[in-house]
Parts: sequence; C-alpha cells; structure tokens
Amino acid sequence: MDVHWRYISASRNSYAALYAACEQEGYILDPVKSPIGDVTCYSLNSLNALQYLQEIRDAPCTTILGGPHASACPGEMANVADYVVVGEGEHILPSLLRALDENLSLPPGVATRIGYTPPDTCVRLDAYPCFSKMKGYIEISRGCPFGCTYCQTPRMCGTRMRHRGIEAITRFARRFRDARFVTPNALAYGSDGINPRLEKVRALLSSLHHEGQCVYFGTFPSEVRPEWVTQEALDLITTYCDNTRLHFGAQSGSNRILASLRRGHTVEHVIHAVELCREYGMTPVVDFIVGIPGENDEDQRMTARLVEWISSCGMVHLHRFIPLPGTPLEGSFPRTLLPDVERLLGSLALSGRVTGSWGDPTRRFF
Ligand code: SF4
Repeated sequence: MDVHWRYISASRNSYAALYAACEQEGYILDPVKSPIGDVTCYSLNSLNALQYLQEIRDAPCTTILGGPHASACPGEMANVADYVVVGEGEHILPSLLRALDENLSLPPGVATRIGYTPPDTCVRLDAYPCFSKMKGYIEISRGCPFGCTYCQTPRMCGTRMRHRGIEAITRFARRFRDARFVTPNALAYGSDGINPRLEKVRALLSSLHHEGQCVYFGTFPSEVRPEWVTQEALDLITTYCDNTRLHFGAQSGSNRILASLRRGHTVEHVIHAVELCREYGMTPVVDFIVGIPGENDEDQRMTARLVEWISSCGMVHLHRFIPLPGTPLEGSFPRTLLPDVERLLGSLALSGRVTGSWGDPTRRFF
C-alpha cells in the first residue's frame, strides 16, 4: 500500500513522531504537497484546518485526518476525510494502516461517517521513538493534569502525565548540537504534574549535560508553569542548561479571570517567578491571552499593568483568545480590548518589549 503524508510545516513535529511510529510497523509516510497514492495522511490544528478541508474532500485517494482539530471534532471531520484518528496517533495510525492494507476491522480511536469507537489505550512514550529519519523535537512528557478552559492539550492527550525515560531522551538529544524538548511543563518531568519531583529533573539534566552540547530547558518549546519556578528549579537550570531565558504562561493579570480559566495559579505566582528569574540573571518570557471572555474593564487593565511591568524587566508574548473546538470555551467570543489597553499594548509592541498579536490570530509579528 502506497502511503503518503501531506507535509504542512505546522505539523512537522507530529510528522516526525508518526513517521517513526509507522516505520516501526513497515509503513513509510512519504511527504507530498498534494494527496496522491493509495492513502494520504493529514494532521491539522484548529488554525490551519479550514485551509485544507476542501483539498481533503477532493482527494483522489483514501484520506486519514488526525491532529488537535480532528480530535476535537471527529464527527464533523469524518464528513470530510475517510478516516479520522482521534487522540494520540502513534498506536492508532499504524493499526489503521494495517487494517486498510489487510482488510481487517478498524481499530478503536478511528471515526468514520458510520460511527466511532473511542481509543482504548494511551501511548507509553518509551514504546515509540521521538523521531527517526525525519527529525523533530524531543518530547519528554505528555498529558497535563491542569484543565485550563481554553486548552486542547488535556482533551487530546489526557490528564495523566507520562514521561519518556532518561536513557531514551539522552540518546535522542545526542543527535542535536542544541537539545530542545516538548512538554506541557518542563519542570514537571518525572512527576504527576502536580507535585514536583526535582530529583528526576536533576537526573535528566545531569545526564544531558555533555561537553559541546547546548541544552535548552524551560524555554520554547518546553515551557514551565509559574508556580513551579522556585530557587531549587532555577539552581538546576542555571547549573546544567544553556538557556538564559525562562518561558512561562501568566495569561491574565486578574486572579478572578485566572480562577475562571482554571489555571491553578495566581498573579502572585507570576510576579514571584519573574522576580526569581531576575535574581538568577535569567530573562522571563511570559505569555498572556488578550480578550478572554468574561473579562471586565478592571480585569483587562490589571492584565495591561502586569504586561507593562514584566516588559520592563523581561519579555511578553501576547496571544489573542481563540475559542478552540473541544475546549470548555468553544463557541465563546473574545472580549473587545479597551482603547487605553490597546494603546498601551501597541506602544509596548512598538518599543519591541512585547511581541505577538491581538488582532487576527493567523497573523503574528515578531
Ligand atoms: S495551558 Fe498548559 S497547564 Fe493549562 S491545560 Fe494546557 S498544557 Fe496544561
């Protein structure tokens, strides 16, 4: 069976992981720029999905669709693609290819126009390589016990954190001069995601600490949560790693809004994390969401004041609120920005201290 992967740069990390998982089962996902062959696979997120749906509908071959968007609305996507992989793809996609190749019944976790059986397994990271021929970031942990109401991650990957073993991470990291990782919270490595196990982080970082290799931990794409930024954590990062920035999410300057988002931390945690970073000579890079539904004027001004303060000693990245499918905030609308808040953010952006965009979510400036 002739199997292809529709190459889309936004999903290159999924491609790297699924290429390796399918290769283990004897299927090679050849990259293509349009659907061809017997089967073409797609992975789409909720920002780029619209761009590819017509192409999938018109495809002259069997189509398989996965990724965050397909997992969030499998019923809808099953009217577009022949098969929809729901959730983590490493086990389900090769099983589906085998079922199509050998005319077997469909595995759980695949939706079609006729119906859907939910997946009956979750992926053990050590059972699959991070990548093989197609390189990607090294995913060290998956799943998140926090249920932030705007986020698709726990809905797609579950709320139980799983970790790749240190030996495997170190082996994959040796293939890079600069080692970077993917995880919902780098400092939660080895833990349940709620209670820190910094001895596990130390064991990982000391194993990665090779001469001639740079290790970036707690910076894009492996960010941390603000309440996990402690002296002990920063001691580890400054001892073993090469990043001079630490990236974490604040999202709002209002404790009322943070509680409504179920973030599980407060504004005071954010302020403490920023101050600790400065104490350790690190630049805090802090994410915020603008236009969160339910904000009142004072919430918005509190966010603007916190953004202004952080940008005086670090960097801020703004994201406009997007009501992602499959999340509790699906179907809600962004709150309009107050004119004075918009002016302040604009002037901070012009001075280069704030990046991101609060306009069209498909547009960014850096
Ligand atoms: S935003 Fe981060 S902490 Fe919140 S649910 Fe998503 S991955 Fe977890």
